[in-house]
Amino acid sequence: MASTPNEPTTGNAGPGREELDALRRQVVDLQRVSSLGVLAGSVCHELNNALTPILNYAKLGLRNPDPEFRRRAFEKILDGAQRAAAITGGVLGLARPQSDVRAPADLVRLAEEVIMLTGKDLQKGRVKVEFRAEGRPHARVNPAQIQQVLLNLVINARQAMPEGGLLKLSVGVDPAGRLAEIRIADSGKGIAAADLRRIFEPFFTTKIGPDSSGQGGTGLGLSVCRDIVESHKGRLRAESRPGQGTTFTLRLPACASPLEKEKGAA
Ligand code: ADP
Repeated sequence: MASTPNEPTTGNAGPGREELDALRRQVVDLQRVSSLGVLAGSVCHELNNALTPILNYAKLGLRNPDPEFRRRAFEKILDGAQRAAAITGGVLGLARPQSDVRAPADLVRLAEEVIMLTGKDLQKGRVKVEFRAEGRPHARVNPAQIQQVLLNLVINARQAMPEGGLLKLSVGVDPAGRLAEIRIADSGKGIAAADLRRIFEPFFTTKIGPDSSGQGGTGLGLSVCRDIVESHKGRLRAESRPGQGTTFTLRLPACASPLEKEKGAA
């Protein structure tokens, strides 16, 4: 889908701008559903892990008349139910068709939810996760779209470490406090310099055969990610050393958290 400076916008010579925008939205949607597909198995597993203590403590509580025991059983049930609700909430947030509403969002929370959704998959692939948050940076974003970007970067990182490895995810702000920054660094196979120049091109992929999850690459992930980030006036960059790993840095204009705003107004 390379564009030229004289791209026709009307007539029979090619699709018009509206048609292109509609196609672009479809690609973003398809890419999101495809990331969810990669994770479907491990998300069900996580959900099952959350449901098991709910069932067990409910049975135990029914059998045991001791009020103190029952109180503790209820607490365990509540913990499990909250975890299950967070998992389904995360999946539904990504799966729903998205309206483009942007509001100040807590980037640490968005990143934590993505780690929760991918946790089982990473664990299965022997990938250790190190998460670091400096402060509580906020940015005015469409949360589901930014999670789609993070999900894609984490899935790519996992696929780059077929033997396992280390994934470092950090959230912070630049020293001037103007840009929020999310970094995703893996210890995987890295990207050759010639490929690094092309990874954001639509349909560029080096994943030709099916991987362990039965999927090859579409080459659409990173181009969609960059589109989403740029539509938020942000930047997405990649650095890599073959054999040593890859780091993706996502920068977004930071904004005040709703709480800070309230304090400022008081
Ligand atoms: P796909 O994952 O379907 O191939 P992407 O657009 O997400 O499409 O990625 C394009 C290419 O960029 C991948 O095929 C891979 O070669 C490279 N790539 C992306 N992320 C990483 C990473 N973390 N480590 C190594 N290579 C990567």
